[in-house]
Amino acid sequence: MRIDAITLFPEAFSVVRDAGITGRAHKQGLWSLQTWNPRDQAQDIHRTVDDRPYGGGPGMVMMMEPLLKSVEAIKQDRLVSDASDVQAPVILLSPAGEKFSQHHAATLATTKGAIFVCGRYEGVDQRFINRTVDAQWSLGDFVLSGGEIAALAMIDAAVRLLPGALNHGDSSAQDSFQDALSGLLDSPHYTRPELFDGESVPAVLMSGNHALIARWRREQSLSLTHAKRPDLIAQARARGLLSAADEKFLATLSGS
Ligand code: SAM
Repeated sequence: MRIDAITLFPEAFSVVRDAGITGRAHKQGLWSLQTWNPRDQAQDIHRTVDDRPYGGGPGMVMMMEPLLKSVEAIKQDRLVSDASDVQAPVILLSPAGEKFSQHHAATLATTKGAIFVCGRYEGVDQRFINRTVDAQWSLGDFVLSGGEIAALAMIDAAVRLLPGALNHGDSSAQDSFQDALSGLLDSPHYTRPELFDGESVPAVLMSGNHALIARWRREQSLSLTHAKRPDLIAQARARGLLSAADEKFLATLSGS
């Protein structure tokens, strides 16, 4: 997977390129990252990439030419390095975008990558969006100062799903929202010490009975999701991912 990021702050991307699971996966060559600073495509000596908004109002707007040229440079570079990479979608980070989810991460992880455009200031000239952007993704209903943090979160979520990115012990299959968990929330986790300040680890986890442990985890996952994200229970039910035992347990939670 190759990620290109158009950003005024390329240094921000060292977090995913160098650290932790994504850093290790990068070293292993499971994914690659290239950053592109629109200032390098600016026309003037000051490397200007923003200007005042037409119609007035506060703040500045990112000009379209440096962004367009950055996208062209990336497509050219992808063409030279791997012809099959050329079709990578241009994704603008934006509060107006589709809310990013595990589904987006999983889709991204099965593709050859994407070109992320990180906005700054009041946003980018609408004409750039109209002619070049294939999709807009949002991290949530809040406003960040720039698209970098949103892109970093999305890249991290996708990279950890790449085959080989995680050690066997921390397999992503058992994570919240994954199909192996029927799209539900993960169950609680415990480690040593067995007893802390009068609070002990649930006895079932030390029973050595794998079937009982699996059932306990499933019920914890169902309870937690029922309490915090009932929409995910409804989705799992609609997708036929709940067993008769799951439904029986859920009925006890609802008191029916
Ligand atoms: N004026 C814009 C608005 O009210 O929607 C906010 C612009 S914001 C200060 C600057 C840039 O940060 C945006 O162009 C976008 O790239 C990024 N950004 C802000 N919030 C975001 C979010 N929730 N998800 C993804 N990107 C976001």
